[in-house]
Amino acid sequence: MTDTATTGLTDTEAAEFRQKCVDFMDQYGTKPAANLDDQKAFLAASAGAGLAGLPVAAEYGGGGLTLAHEKIWREVKGNYPMPDGEFIISHGMCLPMLAEYGTHEQKERFLADNISGKTMWCQMFSEPGAGSDVASLQTKAELDGDEWVLNGQKVWTTLAHKSDYGLVVARTDPDQVKHAGISMFILDMRGQGVEIRPIHQIDGGSHFNEVFMTDARIPKDWLEPRHGDVDVRACRHRWRRRRQDQPAELQDAAQGRRVDRPDQQSGGARSDDEDLVDGDLQVAGGDEDPRRDEGR
Ligand SMILES: Cc1cc2nc3c(=O)[nH]c(=O)nc-3n(C[C@H](O)[C@H](O)[C@H](O)COP(=O)(O)OP(=O)(O)OC[C@H]3O[C@@H](n4cnc5c(N)ncnc54)[C@H](O)[C@@H]3O)c2cc1C
Repeated sequence: MTDTATTGLTDTEAAEFRQKCVDFMDQYGTKPAANLDDQKAFLAASAGAGLAGLPVAAEYGGGGLTLAHEKIWREVKGNYPMPDGEFIISHGMCLPMLAEYGTHEQKERFLADNISGKTMWCQMFSEPGAGSDVASLQTKAELDGDEWVLNGQKVWTTLAHKSDYGLVVARTDPDQVKHAGISMFILDMRGQGVEIRPIHQIDGGSHFNEVFMTDARIPKDWLEPRHGDVDVRACRHRWRRRRQDQPAELQDAAQGRRVDRPDQQSGGARSDDEDLVDGDLQVAGGDEDPRRDEGR
């Protein structure tokens, strides 16, 4: 049977692609990653095999494939130990955001390295006084010649201490109502004026951070194009709604839980593909949030 109407793939194409994924994982993905270098090596190999950033255009280092391919890849990957867990924000949040909203120059410069794991990215929305209500954020960015100057504090920044770059939201127009006048920037996490302090967890771990920006300078063109018009509430709600709408199998695959392959299912499984639309990268990446609580 051909299923091109909903997935863009014939059954034969889907089966061939699934086999390619299985072959790759059998070769590279049977052992859990011991450290970040292992994860980077896995991602570099994935990118080399055309199995990273699947729905992203090839010119930006992606696979140039479809969300149907992405879904198959995740299903297969979910049957192996998680090989790239620390890239969950980098690939789950930042990659889809950059791919959807970045300028051509930003994508050209940053996407391939993000996809291949050469660089890791973090996301800086939350602040001490702006958690659930992100629109209360106080971090501000002011243009000074060819650079933006950032001042403020973020909190709960997952893996900031291992990240090379971050997406940070800041107020660029303080005269607007609080949910407007907000912009998003690419921040060099190792740049001057960026201080990362670990948050020590009660279990001894330390995955999250406070990030202090003191006159941190960002090149003018590292501004994401929705200048002053980033709707942080919509981002959050959109992600949440999409996640609720997602088929259970895709959520399982994204979270690394074992899923039955379609040929092993006992029947009655609904078609997932009605939820997958090419180019809708929020679906491709936005489901990877590791945080279980919806308010996060
Ligand atoms: C594991 C983990 C990783 C995270 N990683 C990141 C990250 O990488 N980047 C990032 O930017 N943020 C991150 N966060 C932060 C997260 O996304 C939320 O912004 C943050 O946890 C919520 O803010 P808060 O802790 O200040 O709580 P608050 O927003 O102050 O909420 C406190 C309590 O009040 C409740 N509450 C809030 N508003 C209302 C309301 N209007 N009505 C009723 N109840 C309400 C909440 O449900 C909660 O129980 C992370 C959080 C966790 C737990």
